[in-house]
Amino acid sequence: MNFSELGLSPKVLEAVTASGYTQPTPIQEMAIPRVLERKDVLGIAQTGTGKTAAFTLPMITLLEQGRARARMPRTLILEPTRELAAQVEESFTKYGSGQKLNVALLIGGVSFGDQDIKIARGVDVLIATPGRLLDHFERGKLLLTGIEILVIDEADRMLDMGFIPDIERICKMVPFTRQTLFFSATMPPEIQRITEAFLHNPERIEIARQATTAETITQLLVAAPHHAAEKRETLRRLMREATDVKNGIIFCNRKSDVQIVWKSLEKHGFSVAALHGDMDQRARTVALDGFRAGTTQYLVASDVAARGLDIPDVSHVFNYDAPHHAEDYVHRIGRTGRAGRLGTAYTIITPADDKNLAAIEGMIKRSIPWLGPSLAEAKFEDGPRPERGRGERDKRSGGPARRGAKPANAAPKASAETTSDVATEATAPSREQRPAQRDTRPPRQDRPAHQPRRHHHDDDGPTPKGLGDHMPGFLMRSTKLKG
Ligand code: AMP
Repeated sequence: MNFSELGLSPKVLEAVTASGYTQPTPIQEMAIPRVLERKDVLGIAQTGTGKTAAFTLPMITLLEQGRARARMPRTLILEPTRELAAQVEESFTKYGSGQKLNVALLIGGVSFGDQDIKIARGVDVLIATPGRLLDHFERGKLLLTGIEILVIDEADRMLDMGFIPDIERICKMVPFTRQTLFFSATMPPEIQRITEAFLHNPERIEIARQATTAETITQLLVAAPHHAAEKRETLRRLMREATDVKNGIIFCNRKSDVQIVWKSLEKHGFSVAALHGDMDQRARTVALDGFRAGTTQYLVASDVAARGLDIPDVSHVFNYDAPHHAEDYVHRIGRTGRAGRLGTAYTIITPADDKNLAAIEGMIKRSIPWLGPSLAEAKFEDGPRPERGRGERDKRSGGPARRGAKPANAAPKASAETTSDVATEATAPSREQRPAQRDTRPPRQDRPAHQPRRHHHDDDGPTPKGLGDHMPGFLMRSTKLKG
């Protein structure tokens, strides 16, 4: 099928040709005519399928009729992260060239004042992260009663980040008669429920998942003790010993670890930048631009910050942490080995990772070989342990506590290195020190009492319930009951 058969306007077709696209992708072929018919669409598709153009191209065509009124945006696109929001804005610039579209981006880390001015002028397309949108709404600067099209993108990521209550609120604030375009890579029950509540007779478009893991990617597991300093040492050794490294992304499960690993690698002389949800927008842009341009060789990133980003092919992926969600593994390693090129993905596995590893191997339907001794062969003693204060750790053992045995191929560690690494941890800013995360607003009246306040842009993944994966030793001890 050709783009000209989809019903797009001549101006939009010109922009498509200028972008160098010759054929619509399957999701574009299926979604564009439905969007133009003003139907609701439920797209089950990942990034990389061309889904952004699947909604931006018909939206631009529809927006050619009519004009925006002050404070009343005509369309609203919700994105889970600032980077994705910025990428969608770029799409409007690219495909809307030659059109007089007013596009505004409402994301955290940017001043309210400039965003207010844009809204006041009248906006055709408002692209926002849910938290910032609600902040503007609560300040009374924004009316959502003129929304004709609502796009909810990366819905399953929104779920991971705790944004679903915000999404439900926003869906109730926009007119019932609006058109809704909803995209999610997966359909967990919570997302299914939202689609049933807020979509009207949607056209369901499902794009087959990409081949789980490309044949061009060499995947290897590396055993390491649970202890953080030794894990970082294992990472450095891997990075130094890997061959043909052009560039690489190091994935951590937590933002706090992104910060620590980044600082540590920088101290050890690597060319490295960090990308996580607590960094201000400028720092994130600088980090990404440097990595894209090749001036920075490595990027330490969290899943959410890296998700969906148009980052060029990388030669190596290092999973500092085994991801909690097996899908994230496929997504992470898919950053390498693209377009027939060769790539390598290492995953560090500690004694605490057995469940994560089983889920990953279950998902890709193969077992991943070990580089060096397997976890069972290495016989590390340490599993997840209670977090103790640094002072306490030093008091007990005169150094880092309860070290496990090293893998046979681990490099001997100089004591100075350990000291500098621990000092690195101490330099990572605390939550309170990070201005982007300070929340000075009064609590929202309509937030249910049982629902904990969460931080916007939080990409540490779901909040653990109770003790999370960690079981303190005292709970494992058997006790005698009296009587
Ligand atoms: P997305 O899934 O929206 O993140 O798109 C992934 C990439 O595919 C982006 O870099 C787009 O520029 C590109 N792309 C989108 N549509 C097409 C198309 N029809 N032909 C070629 N590339 C495309």
